[in-house]
Amino acid sequence: MGGLTADEEAAMRAAADLAVSYRQGLPDRPVPAQSSHDDIIAAFRTPLADAGQPAEAVIRALAETADPGIAGMSSPNFYGYVLGGSMPVGVAADMLVSAWGQNAGSSVETPAITGMERAVCDWILDLLDLPLDSGVGLVTGATVANTQGVMAARHALLARQGWDVEEKGLYGAPEIPVLIGAEAHSAPFAALRYAGLGAGRASRVATDDEGRIRPDAFAEALEATTGPPLAILQAGQINTGAFDPFAELIPMIHARGGWVHVDGAFGLWLRAVPELQGRLAGVGAADSWATDLHKWINAPFDAGAVIVRDRAPLVASMTARGAYLPDEGAEWIPTDSTLELSRRARGVPSYAIFRHLGRSGVREMVARHCRLAAELARELAREPGLRVLNAVHSNQVALTCGETDAETDAVLAEVQGRGRVYPTHGEWRGRRIIRCSIIGYATKETHTRLLADEIRQAWRKVREAA
Ligand SMILES: *Cc1c(COP(=O)(O)O)cnc(C)c1O
Repeated sequence: MGGLTADEEAAMRAAADLAVSYRQGLPDRPVPAQSSHDDIIAAFRTPLADAGQPAEAVIRALAETADPGIAGMSSPNFYGYVLGGSMPVGVAADMLVSAWGQNAGSSVETPAITGMERAVCDWILDLLDLPLDSGVGLVTGATVANTQGVMAARHALLARQGWDVEEKGLYGAPEIPVLIGAEAHSAPFAALRYAGLGAGRASRVATDDEGRIRPDAFAEALEATTGPPLAILQAGQINTGAFDPFAELIPMIHARGGWVHVDGAFGLWLRAVPELQGRLAGVGAADSWATDLHKWINAPFDAGAVIVRDRAPLVASMTARGAYLPDEGAEWIPTDSTLELSRRARGVPSYAIFRHLGRSGVREMVARHCRLAAELARELAREPGLRVLNAVHSNQVALTCGETDAETDAVLAEVQGRGRVYPTHGEWRGRRIIRCSIIGYATKETHTRLLADEIRQAWRKVREAA
């Protein structure tokens, strides 16, 4: 007698087969979902029948119904937002994670998960060249990582002023001045809201043409504050891929007894490439960092990490075990470093990816994407009427077509409609843009050449129609 009925076994095997077929066929499928949004939703939102169905039939039917509504986000031709492509070795590991059914909140009963997740934490610090004794929390993504970084900062800045925020909350607490770049991602603003610091009261510091904080404006904003400040800096602006001038900004905050948190959702990974590290010089002096694993590391969704130089504020702000002083190295309980109590073993797919790529594979991938982005920008800029708005600092390319937003929108609609490649839209410096994010593990030069070609052809068609 096995642990599975014949039907359960058939369901699990069917899922594995369907997963393999999907990924095999991915390069030949249109990138966007082919069904209309409403149709596919209606196909699923039917009343729940009284009688259940066999497991295998459920899996086969859901995959068949879903198929036209699945977007090729793992395709090498997907360039939308900033999304990794769920690397197959990580997907394979993720299947085991589900099968094992470990609640990774408890490291006592799940030592194998603890082993793999601790290795992932060590490797992240090593690859990013950050202090090896930093605290690391494996979380769902950069939004939560930013929130946790801000909460650790909140703890430390108030504790230094004799205020126990975990016990007393923010009522009557000393105010924490917050500085953030005007072109920061929406996630750190959400983090400020979640942490009770208020997004609206943060001082939004002026930036240069690439979206980098201007040191003179930063110094001026800092001048206007009292009390130890929190600064939220950025490694990788969403439209330009640019980096704040860390080496200039971080010492200003530290001189004031403040805390520097860095949103490095994707851009922080340039730290793993020796020849690109200089682009984010000084970032290692910050106090906390947020990054994603489901972006540049191409882990299956969802996975990110918060890193806090001094583990104690991370644990003090996150532990669900009540009053607790971290006992240096004695025990490692995931819930001491994350908002979740019960949690998926979400470090395991990243463990498999890091093992599969090795250090050189991570370096090669990040360097390749940065090189392809620079080549794409040069290629597009050669076409009359196309304009790349950013200097390519990492893997993001911001493009306008013609003189009006309508032309750019029309080109993007044409490109997306053809379905062979899929960049998405954005806004930059008052203009609608086509934003190309080169970050999929399988994206090579043949793919980015196709992307350039598709954009050029769409632009010529739009121009001729005008
Ligand atoms: C993607 C992104 C985020 C949010 O990350 P999630 O993983 O979607 O939560 C935050 N900051 C930047 C710069 C990003 O690119």
